[in-house]
Amino acid sequence: MSDQKIKYIVVVGSIMSGLGKGIVTASIGKLLQARGYKVSPIKFDGYLNVDCGTMNPFRHGEVFVLDDGTEVDMDFGTYERFLNQSISGENSITGGKLFQKIIEKERRGDYLGRDVQFVPHLTDEIKKWVRNVGKKNDSDVVIVEVGGTVGDLENSYFLEAMRQLGVEETVLFAQLTFLPSLSEGEQKTKPTQHATRLLQSMGINPDIILCRGNEKLSDEARKKLALYCNVKEEFVFDDPTLNTIYELPLLLEKQNLYKAIAEKLKLEDRKPDLKEWKEKVDRIINPKNSAIKIAVVGKYTSVKDAYISVKEALVHSAAEIDYGLEIEWVEASDLEKMEKEKVTKFLGKFDGIIVPGGFGERGIEGKIIAINYARLNKIPYLGLCLGLQLMVIEFARNVCKLQTAHSTEFDKVTKYPVIDFLPEQKQIAKMGASMRLGAYSCDITNNTITKQAYDKKECSERHRHRYEVNPDFVDEISKFGLVFAGFHKSSKGDVTEIVEWPSEYGFGVATQAHIELKSRLETPAPIFVQYMKAAAKRKKEGK
Ligand code: GLN
Repeated sequence: MSDQKIKYIVVVGSIMSGLGKGIVTASIGKLLQARGYKVSPIKFDGYLNVDCGTMNPFRHGEVFVLDDGTEVDMDFGTYERFLNQSISGENSITGGKLFQKIIEKERRGDYLGRDVQFVPHLTDEIKKWVRNVGKKNDSDVVIVEVGGTVGDLENSYFLEAMRQLGVEETVLFAQLTFLPSLSEGEQKTKPTQHATRLLQSMGINPDIILCRGNEKLSDEARKKLALYCNVKEEFVFDDPTLNTIYELPLLLEKQNLYKAIAEKLKLEDRKPDLKEWKEKVDRIINPKNSAIKIAVVGKYTSVKDAYISVKEALVHSAAEIDYGLEIEWVEASDLEKMEKEKVTKFLGKFDGIIVPGGFGERGIEGKIIAINYARLNKIPYLGLCLGLQLMVIEFARNVCKLQTAHSTEFDKVTKYPVIDFLPEQKQIAKMGASMRLGAYSCDITNNTITKQAYDKKECSERHRHRYEVNPDFVDEISKFGLVFAGFHKSSKGDVTEIVEWPSEYGFGVATQAHIELKSRLETPAPIFVQYMKAAAKRKKEGK
């Protein structure tokens, strides 16, 4: 459809944050994609950080990484998991990036003679950016999610740009809102009425309204919203709490959301292909086999979103093998305080253990305790990034007898620095976007679990780290049986990408990459699937 004009959908949130705008955006995209349209999601975040890389997971949730190495908001994870497509860093627009661009242009003299203003200079820049993403990706529809809530100072100039876009292009505005209920059957629409007025005062009228709430959208509430918010009754949709987020496209399809989109954007009346999607969703909700119990031993376990991609990758791989899933988030430092028997009692109940990525010293020894327990008791183990580094440390200490082995991240003067700075990281002074980031290829060793998983000679996964397995120790450690299952080969030397335990310790695989980032419902991460199969086997055969 490249010769035709690109259409746009702008998703805004009202009243409060945390309503799941990313999931709505991704679901709308899925309904279009299921009809053969090419969609490109864009997210605008108003903060002045250039990217998410310097943000703490405690405050901001997971930092998602794209193939090109851009560190982005975790909504991009949702987009990719729903749309099963890899997105470029240009699809992430932040306040920081925008102002950086404008100021660079001003210093270069691009605006010579003019005072540089929010309107038209910044708004023009935004429209140009949004259109360019559409063109570059050959998109039929660009979906722009506006971060934050209508009324925030931070996104007001962006909304103004979207208003202008609405005049110049074919644009549908979708407003996500919240309908509180004080008692059952009494959904309140007044906050949404006020929020819609606020949006209208900015010159934007929503074409569709999606309602989050604790109960089903009532006919009465729908009628009121239509009447007071200038929206057709059949263009008000219910966005209820679901068993799984992946159900939302199906639910919106049932409510005929596409009809509203097609009417406004003048799209064809096409039938969607959501058959496979529905099968996977059914397996998540009603799996044939009972739940596999996985312990994720981490550091940010109190923050729901800090390990969201790990959680979703587990959901995808459990659905793939048609098993239920129970995840327990274990605080690593708690294991450090436990007596040995208690650790045994506690960890023994799981079918699998995972140590995900992380930074900083807190909880490190607790994670090593968990890995050691998994190895000695043949509990399937999966290590992700830091989880690989600690798997190597545990093996070096307890099998190779390099008792004080450590990473120089945690012990600068260790006698056995089995994990050390990547050479290019040694001179880095700036914190932003300075890690080893994004997709790197990996050559896979034959006769390994990894080879079985990918069934290819090479794979490519996404990275975010400063340390690596110290190449000086690879020979020595492999003499004791640790399997080096994958390397990134380059002229600067080989970087260890994947390691595996020798089979006597059961299933243990760890990757320097964050393989969870590329897992999608339709194409789960291959190593996760192998891991879940091993966990299912352990569950079946008894502990
Ligand atoms: N802290 C480790 C490093 O920088 C691991 C990073 C991670 O797990 N993402 O190499």
